[in-house]
Amino acid sequence: MARTPPPGAAAAARQATIRDTNLRLVLSTVLGSAEPVSRAGVAGATALTRSTVSRLTDELVGAGLVDELEPLRAPGRGRPGTPLVAGRGVAALGLQVNPGFSAARVVDLQGRIVEEHLVTEDLVGSDPGEALRRIGELARRLRRGLPPTLRLVGAGLALPGVVSVEDAVLLSAPNLGWSEVDVPALLDLRALGNLPLRVANEADLAARTVAEVVPGRSGPLSDFVYVSGEVGIGGAAVIGGRVFAGRHGWAGEIGHVAVDPRGPACPCGSTGCLEQYAGRRAMLRTAGLPAGAPMALLAQRVRSGDAAARTSLDAAARALGVALSSVLNVLDISTVVLGGHLAETAELIRPSLEQHLHERVISALWLRPAVEVAGQDDAPGATGAAFAVLDAVIDHPAGWVDR
Ligand SMILES: [Zn+2]
Repeated sequence: MARTPPPGAAAAARQATIRDTNLRLVLSTVLGSAEPVSRAGVAGATALTRSTVSRLTDELVGAGLVDELEPLRAPGRGRPGTPLVAGRGVAALGLQVNPGFSAARVVDLQGRIVEEHLVTEDLVGSDPGEALRRIGELARRLRRGLPPTLRLVGAGLALPGVVSVEDAVLLSAPNLGWSEVDVPALLDLRALGNLPLRVANEADLAARTVAEVVPGRSGPLSDFVYVSGEVGIGGAAVIGGRVFAGRHGWAGEIGHVAVDPRGPACPCGSTGCLEQYAGRRAMLRTAGLPAGAPMALLAQRVRSGDAAARTSLDAAARALGVALSSVLNVLDISTVVLGGHLAETAELIRPSLEQHLHERVISALWLRPAVEVAGQDDAPGATGAAFAVLDAVIDHPAGWVDR
């Protein structure tokens, strides 16, 4: 027999939803503003009443999500406004395991890296249990060094492969040699202080750091394809400021778009994938450089006229042009953002890549495709993982205000 809700339950639920929506509105306005904003400023921007904004702001300040700065002396009469900014007392743990490094960092709501540990190590062909145990240890050490007043709201882990986001299982990471890794079963959650853990694809998370300059504040680009250059290549499409992750979170595997079906075999099982031409390992190999060489050395060789280095760069630019023009044609996006090792060589790759895009993107006559470079960050997946956790808090602040 269906149970009838007690009288007033529907109204209470509606009231709770309105409160969460209004809290989100106030918090997003404070976080989205490049300059500190006063309660009156928030009221003006949201069309909420001054008293509602004041009450909600007090709740957000109480939860540490918003900080108050010293009141400004206003010219003339009237009470001085108290400038509001993102709370520095709320932060998230961002973790990243990549073929070449492990990273753990704590990022606060203002987007600052509070503390971090980054370990360069070769994890190609590593044991997932051992690698995840070590990232747990890194997180444990990191947490010990944090100020006791800092409130961690969750943890995120960036992995370079196809991730089943719902159950936190890494289905396949060809460059690590990992498949079907049940992350919560192998990563000791006590090392994370039992924080709720979200696991996602590294490029999807890194793309967030371009879409948002800090949590809750949009960057200058809202529609772009992010290309994460690592040992292999990851990718993410950002549409309207949001990462398009697909039905299961598997979208964006640009590294495994076939550029030439008769090309070299790829660890993913296919042939001629983009990353076999433009991945870090492939580019260094074609240039006749050792696998661990810095990209700066490849760039230097190109500039000094080295033929193998030039061949490597041209092959990477052509492969990127072929793969990305198809993506841009399908998605109606005209901006590409290069990250990782591709950002390090962007100056050399860009002219040739843009030429390929101009030739192959059907809308290029009306809107020329542009190639941008991601900001400097040695573990953007870790930063993005923390951003994703903080974004979830920004989306539903009531859950945190009421704890
Ligand atoms: Zn592949």
